[in-house]
Amino acid sequence: MNPDPTPAAPGKNLLVARLLDQAAEVIRANAERLGDLDRAIGDGDHGVNLMRGFTAIEEARASIEGLPLGPALEAMGKVLVMKVGGASGPLYGSLLMAMGRAAIRDRSASLRVMLEEGVAAVKKRGRSEPGEKTMLDVLVPVQLAWEQAGKDGLAKGDAIERLERAADEGLESTRPLLATKGRASFLRERSIGHLDPGACSTSLLVHAACDAFAETQP
Ligand code: ADP
Ligand code: MG
Repeated sequence: MNPDPTPAAPGKNLLVARLLDQAAEVIRANAERLGDLDRAIGDGDHGVNLMRGFTAIEEARASIEGLPLGPALEAMGKVLVMKVGGASGPLYGSLLMAMGRAAIRDRSASLRVMLEEGVAAVKKRGRSEPGEKTMLDVLVPVQLAWEQAGKDGLAKGDAIERLERAADEGLESTRPLLATKGRASFLRERSIGHLDPGACSTSLLVHAACDAFAETQP
């Protein structure tokens, strides 16, 4: 499914505008929780980091919300790389820039291809794979769920539901894992039993994107 089938309209791209709203809202509403999760197995700044990033994206809103999806995602990714200190900035930046570039290269690129390229960019930047207690434990199941939904020929609503379930299960899957990447890996066995903060923010952002998508793409 091509997530942005409408031609670029001057002024405002409804999907992009709703993505900006929903993402900023979910991060603002959960910044405290993300900080708490990061305090347990990291340095406690994950909520503050993402707040800074998504506030900067909101400040750049006027120059982003008129763009087609590809350039908009790329622009959001660049803001995150520039504004977010910490590991999550360059990782989320790589994700969004690679997804955006897939859509820029081919305006009819499917969400399947965009996710595939985005996830590959995170793996490369983080030198990581799923199972290491990171955002990839949500991203990879989400990517695979979307791919499978396409193969199964699911209607959009059912496919989105599957995506959201994959995000929830992916987040929960991080609890028993031992962290081998990022600050949480310094704790070794003591990282076991906690949710990964980056997996939590990814799951929240997946839900936000699904809401924006469902609202604007009948
Ligand atoms: P920092 O760890 O620098 O304080 P954040 O707290 O903002 O940065 O983000 C931490 C999150 O980043 C982790 O919970 C994890 O999901 C993710 N992360 C850290 N390192 C990696 C990596 N190498 N690969 C993938 N994700 C990572
Ligand atoms: Mg941190």
